[in-house]
Amino acid sequence: MIVRTLTFWSLVLSALAAPLVPYQIPIEGTRGHRGKFLHVTDIHIDPTYIPGSDPTFLCHRKNDNDTTLNVAGRFGALGKDCDSPVELVDAAFDFMKRNFSDEIDFVIYTGDTARHDRDAVKPRTEFDVLADHAAILNHLTKSFDTSKIRIFPTIGNNDVFNHDQMPYGEQPLTQNLTKLWEPLGLNLQEDEDFQIGGYYTREITPTLSIVSLNTMHLYKNNVLAADCNARKSAGTKMLKWFEKILKKARRDGRKIYVIGHVPPHNDEGHHAYHLACYNDYIYTLGTHYEVIAGQFFGHTNDDTIAFLHAHHPNKGPFHLETIIDKPPNVDLKTHKILHVISTAPSIIPFNNPAVRVYEYEKRGGRLVDYVQYWTDLNEDEQRGRVEFVEEYAASKAYGLKDLTTKSWIGLLKTLERNGTEMELAGQDDEAELGHLAAT
Ligand SMILES: [Zn+2]
Ligand SMILES: [Zn+2]
Repeated sequence: MIVRTLTFWSLVLSALAAPLVPYQIPIEGTRGHRGKFLHVTDIHIDPTYIPGSDPTFLCHRKNDNDTTLNVAGRFGALGKDCDSPVELVDAAFDFMKRNFSDEIDFVIYTGDTARHDRDAVKPRTEFDVLADHAAILNHLTKSFDTSKIRIFPTIGNNDVFNHDQMPYGEQPLTQNLTKLWEPLGLNLQEDEDFQIGGYYTREITPTLSIVSLNTMHLYKNNVLAADCNARKSAGTKMLKWFEKILKKARRDGRKIYVIGHVPPHNDEGHHAYHLACYNDYIYTLGTHYEVIAGQFFGHTNDDTIAFLHAHHPNKGPFHLETIIDKPPNVDLKTHKILHVISTAPSIIPFNNPAVRVYEYEKRGGRLVDYVQYWTDLNEDEQRGRVEFVEEYAASKAYGLKDLTTKSWIGLLKTLERNGTEMELAGQDDEAELGHLAAT
């Protein structure tokens, strides 16, 4: 294993040749000074994707018996089980580089870099997983000047060697990711939390930090992670670490952005974590709600919003409601909304690919707005070119002054008064298919 890893690394590092640059010291923004950051997720690059192949064969082979089934597009197979062709990934990074590399402060990348391991004929090797990681790292460092733009990655359930399975403790995967992500300047080699648990925290500005959770320790499909009611479970260890950070942030007057791959809920509102872990997680969120200024997840390939609310803030019990096509079942007279959890759409074209750019206040992290950009793959195929355009801005789509819970509560009260149903922006487009593809 070690020999193979080193061999791999000598190849990857020479291919990347990315400069190792230290971070600039964060500069405290003046009060109200705004910045932008990018949220990208679930790239699932597949170097073995073949345009004009059969999506039933995961876009890896043509169907010789029925050639009418060879419909995989040049830029992807919308709504099928195929991963992202390299050409789509190239186009997405080209768009991000041209449009955002001069204006963003940082990137949150919420995981699922590698292709799925769905093809029995072409099983994924550990080398494939690392090569996919290396390819995306190469894109990130070429698209963004890492001496100015910090990039915060997370581990997805397809980024591990065995789908959905990741143990706690030191392991080849995190050792490899440590080397791989070295050009991002996160100094993960000296970070015991990352080495053992795959999670870390870093400062964005002196009043705002990011916590990158490793949701594999909470995820109910990970049989190597015990539920959080088991003694010394990985999830409990991580949540204790998380709570310590939140308590310290409260003492220091800092705010926290939380990023992770698997959100606590899927977009049908069911818990995606082991049950006790789910309860512990939302309890932690609820009891420290004043400290957390934003939560960002991926994995569902879908654009969803969930509200965490409680009758007794700081005490609970806490409830998480996912918005699908109705206002959440929250009695706003008796319950307070404490958090808004966002999951972003993906690059993998289960739905049309999309990315988000958030606007935030550097001091304290108040989220002001986000703009979602998407590309219509059917049109892309016809014009022979991927063209990302603005899909919607949250402020305009929802009529929000900013993205604080106070503003969301105002919106829900207006909807309630008018007897109007809440419609999610970005979900009515005909070209956007289906909903949950949490795999
Ligand atoms: Zn994914
Ligand atoms: Zn995932």
